[in-house]
Amino acid sequence: METLGRILVVEDEGHLADGLRFNLEAEGYDVDCVETGETALERLAPGSAPDAYNAVILDIMLPGIDGFEVARRLRANACYVPILMLTARGRSQDMVEGFAAGADDYLPKPFELAILFARLSSLLRRARVWRAGQAAPASPLPVATSVAPEVFEFNGRRIDFGNLELAWQGTTLRLTLMEAQLLRHLLLRRGNVVSRKEILEQVWGVHEDTDTRAIDNFIVRLRRQIEDEPSQPKHLLTVRGVGYRFDP
Ligand code: CA
Repeated sequence: METLGRILVVEDEGHLADGLRFNLEAEGYDVDCVETGETALERLAPGSAPDAYNAVILDIMLPGIDGFEVARRLRANACYVPILMLTARGRSQDMVEGFAAGADDYLPKPFELAILFARLSSLLRRARVWRAGQAAPASPLPVATSVAPEVFEFNGRRIDFGNLELAWQGTTLRLTLMEAQLLRHLLLRRGNVVSRKEILEQVWGVHEDTDTRAIDNFIVRLRRQIEDEPSQPKHLLTVRGVGYRFDP
């Protein structure tokens, strides 16, 4: 039977894991639950079953290695499965660390199921669109319907959007899907001011009220990769009170 996708839930609290499984299955997903980060890494080990999962819902607080470490190791193993990280409410540091570890999106606990489903389906949709090598989903912004180049060079960097790679000074970094999506969007809108709301809606596909600080943290992370001096950006500029402007 066709399902919406196969999800790996990494959560040690039994009642939360059971609730997630029940509701995700009712929504139409295939679900596997594991209780530790170590087990999650085994399930997602390189070569074990490529693309076994369409997404991972990853709790931070786990009995052995924590969710941050799981995300870091997955990305270090070149596993780029979309990761939705569950963070504790009011701990913005978790969000910062989660994105730095390679998470694609985050959701503070406790969360509403409707929000979880919205985040998950937008994460899966973006991953599908990405794999299909198409442009961003249909958008009301005319500029976003133009096609971004697959490879873009600026400031000594070479960004390969197809392979999610950023090459610089002989080293190649992997980008997460979200990082590449945001870079591509900023590139399409280069020279224009892009608001945080636009980024939320066009890049993240999120239309609910969401804490826009997550975007700022993402920008900080991107600057470390594309700016020579991230604390004094010359290309990815903050437009105070509005958003950002990309000037390659
Ligand atoms: Ca937990």
